[in-house]
Amino acid sequence: MLHSMRPTVWVLGDQLSPRWPAWLAEHGLGPDNARLLCIESERKLRARPWHRHKLILVLSAMRHFVEEMRRRGFDVEYRRAPTFLAGLRAHLRQHSVDRLIVMRPNTWQGAQFTSRLEQTLGLPVEVWPNRFFLAGPSDLGTARSPLMETFYRKMRRRTGFLMDGPQPVGSRWNWDAENRRPPRKDWQPADLPAIAAFPPDEITRQVIEEVARIDTAWGRLDGFALPVTRADALAFYEDFLVHRLPAFGPYQDAMLSGRPWLFHALISPLINIGLLEAGEVCAAAEQRWRDGRAPLNSVEGFIRQVIGWREFMYAVYWREMPALRGMNALGAVRPLPAFYWSAETEMVCLRECVQSVWERGYTHHIQRLMVLCNFAMLAGVDPHAVNDWFLSTYVDAYDWVVTPNVIGMGLFADGGIVGSKPYAASANYIHKMSDYCAGCRFNPRQRVGPNACPFNALYWDFVIRHAGLLGRNPRTSMAVKTVRRMNGADVAALRAQAASFLEHLAG
Ligand SMILES: Cc1cc2nc3c(=O)[nH]c(=O)nc-3n(C[C@H](O)[C@H](O)[C@H](O)COP(=O)(O)OP(=O)(O)OC[C@H]3O[C@@H](n4cnc5c(N)ncnc54)[C@H](O)[C@@H]3O)c2cc1C
Ligand code: SF4
Repeated sequence: MLHSMRPTVWVLGDQLSPRWPAWLAEHGLGPDNARLLCIESERKLRARPWHRHKLILVLSAMRHFVEEMRRRGFDVEYRRAPTFLAGLRAHLRQHSVDRLIVMRPNTWQGAQFTSRLEQTLGLPVEVWPNRFFLAGPSDLGTARSPLMETFYRKMRRRTGFLMDGPQPVGSRWNWDAENRRPPRKDWQPADLPAIAAFPPDEITRQVIEEVARIDTAWGRLDGFALPVTRADALAFYEDFLVHRLPAFGPYQDAMLSGRPWLFHALISPLINIGLLEAGEVCAAAEQRWRDGRAPLNSVEGFIRQVIGWREFMYAVYWREMPALRGMNALGAVRPLPAFYWSAETEMVCLRECVQSVWERGYTHHIQRLMVLCNFAMLAGVDPHAVNDWFLSTYVDAYDWVVTPNVIGMGLFADGGIVGSKPYAASANYIHKMSDYCAGCRFNPRQRVGPNACPFNALYWDFVIRHAGLLGRNPRTSMAVKTVRRMNGADVAALRAQAASFLEHLAG
């Protein structure tokens, strides 16, 4: 059969927005004169020990996207191929394509790949600007260490969220001081909302069967219940707005055994593949406050995560790549401890977090930052090994968001571009903000001895090792002063405790 020449629009697995028909229409393209293509690359599926739920999510969402676009009249090819390039070549052999269109990928490696495509394929390739973010590197200003708070206020003014003319509603930009409560001891099961579950349909069940055969994958296979369509993503988000947003703010940093999500939204897997948009989730959250159904500290806290931190990380990533990935400002070289994969450790906080990652590829922000990264930083684990672990094991993981969060915020391996100080903490923080220590064989109040919590000696050992750097920073110099006031025997005991623990840490 003879086909007329048409452009092919290659839609990537993290660009599954319902807006594609509208974006194409802006260019005079539609079902009659453009073809869509999605490619499943065998190499990509096996490139790392991806979490099985991540593979299920992306593959199923892609297939549902294809169904939806076909319903809307598009000719869509869903192609399985050994690599993306092989898939593109096979597509071009079988169809009359006058040019290839692709939106600029979110990640640096992807953008490198698409920038070479025209030459590689010998066909005109249009790389359209990325439409999935509200900000970019130019919004960071020129400082080496841009301030997130300055960036965030700019984003508030630009988007108009929670603004009263030029002023923030409630006359404050930031309600963080209200948002640091530990978990309540009197919480009953009924106080802790479940998360909405979407049982797998036929397409997802088929994907689960296929993912079961990917022997390089990690994480639990069963129990997948995330939304994979736009309609279900909206329903999932609505469930957060109604049941968890009101308490989101105060308990944003709290950690509770068996409840990794607590009052968090769990929407990062969905926003990161285009099923939800940053602007729409913020608008809906703001509306809850305007309707008197959620307090301002919760709504502001949530909006700051989305148009503040999320956009900030994306902008930093694009400004600092590719160097960012290779940074190691603290000279950390230790291999990743084996328990990051097995969860076999006596440290309850770390075990709970790794188990949650195994179960559903998720922990909330503070577990990522103050438990998993904090431990790795204090123990001097190689930042690239930590980055690779986060990239592989989380259901919401993509290079543009993992690398600045891990190399920058989590490990301070960027030397202070993302944050102005290392997020280093002893057991005291975890003890205060979680219920983990109550069930742990270690004592969070002890620094040395067989029952002392390892976080304590590791923390002080870290402060001693990096005293020069930490002493120069007003936000961390207090810890250095404390060490300098300790007597020599105490310092030696702390260092010996840390060394003995690290010696027995299996990599
Ligand atoms: C070491 C480390 C690794 C991380 N890895 C990822 C990752 O792989 N993918 C990912 O999307 N986020 C990552 N984050 C950021 C943040 O932890 C997650 O976005 C958040 O925990 C997702 O859960 P949630 O949807 O329940 O978030 P909520 O707490 O409900 O927050 C709402 C939304 O805000 C956004 N957000 C909040 N903080 C950040 C941040 N620091 N960077 C980017 N977006 C943010 C997310 O889109 C999130 O869905 C990481 C943070 C750290 C410290
Ligand atoms: S005592 Fe230490 S290791 Fe145990 S849960 Fe608390 S912080 Fe974690």
